[in-house]
Amino acid sequence: MNIALRLDLRTMMLTMACINLLFAAMLALVSLHSGRVKGARQWAVGMVLLGAGYSGAGLLVDTPPPAAMVIMAMGIGLGLGMMFNGIEAFKDQPCSYRLTLALAVGMGVQTFWFLVVRNDVQGRITANWLVHSLVNLACARALFVRVAQPLRTAYWLAGASFLALGSATLARVLAALFAPANTVYLFAPGKISPGVFMVASLAQMALAFGLILMINYRLASDLRQLASTDSLTGVLNRGSIEKELSRQVALAKRSGAALALMMIDVDHFKRINDSHGHPAGDEVLRQLAALLRSLVRQGDAVGRYGGEEFCIVLPNTSAPAAALLAERLLQRYADLRVAWGATVLNGTVSIGIADSATSGHAVAPLIAAADRALYQAKAAGRNRMVLHTADEPALAEAQPRMQWN
Ligand code: GH3
Ligand code: MG
Ligand code: MG
Repeated sequence: MNIALRLDLRTMMLTMACINLLFAAMLALVSLHSGRVKGARQWAVGMVLLGAGYSGAGLLVDTPPPAAMVIMAMGIGLGLGMMFNGIEAFKDQPCSYRLTLALAVGMGVQTFWFLVVRNDVQGRITANWLVHSLVNLACARALFVRVAQPLRTAYWLAGASFLALGSATLARVLAALFAPANTVYLFAPGKISPGVFMVASLAQMALAFGLILMINYRLASDLRQLASTDSLTGVLNRGSIEKELSRQVALAKRSGAALALMMIDVDHFKRINDSHGHPAGDEVLRQLAALLRSLVRQGDAVGRYGGEEFCIVLPNTSAPAAALLAERLLQRYADLRVAWGATVLNGTVSIGIADSATSGHAVAPLIAAADRALYQAKAAGRNRMVLHTADEPALAEAQPRMQWN
């Protein structure tokens, strides 16, 4: 504490204000360039308001014109609320801007009350910092949630910073509450205030890093998502499904578990394009992809292999289990009616299946085997599934649907 005691509190308050303003500018830039990442804008506005409020408090506190103090307090209330709104926006939740407005009004009213009506510094400091503490603790609570890594690290860094801010300001509240009347003011020397300011300044910095990390991880995962999905159907694109297949092949090889690969191709798809136009074909592809996604289990991967050809990687799945899924898919797709303007589109698919038991634990032979099986299903009349067998089946082996067991 000896070191802390030598710190000038007003300088620290101004430092905190400057940190807020600097990071506000940084966040504003980040939000300008990230565009899609929600929350950055609210945090930038929040930090500007907090920075302005703190620097005002740091400069004006000796002879505060009451109106300026009230406006500053309202700005700080708004800023605190916006920090919370930013977290809500980041988490894709509706923002409670009414709460922010209530915070601003509440801060203004309490400052007016304790400054003009009662002239009670202790009451003002206690109430002011209590609001700080509660909002910061609420922000921490909103961030200590289960999310996937690496976002969790960023959430918890920002959450811990809010917690430190909330705790430090709560300590300030308790110190003000138990101090003798009229010995409390914002820059009162003592053991508590320097510690609070020190912790708060560091927490402000850590918080800004945490928020920027959150934005960075969100941007990175958005980009990954964009690069790995097929833009028309939302399933994995060819590169990603091949990567997933080779990952699953390696896992299956190590564990000895079964692995199946299913190739699905729309029958006479060209006719849909020719008769109803390309957009109609696109809609059929979208609906087929949605159907595939609805039929598979968690852990299975659906991808668009190209054109109107899809594939599904089925880990821990034997060929008979994959065939059951294929039968269900044939049925469900045959039942599917795609409304297109005044017409209703309806068709069939053909399916080829290969598994690691017959094709081995390597990517290329699995794909080639599933592809050959698919070709056989087409040659045998379409609207059916064919299982690839170890001894290179002849075309005649292609089985009509519903008869495989
Ligand atoms: P088969 O039963 O033998 O599979 O016949 P098919 O007509 O389905 O197959 P074919 O390979 O002759 O035609 C595939 C068509 O898919 C040709 C291509 O124009 C169309 N196609 C490929 N990608 C897209 C797409 O993204 N959208 C639309 N609408 N059509 C596509
Ligand atoms: Mg086709
Ligand atoms: Mg095709």
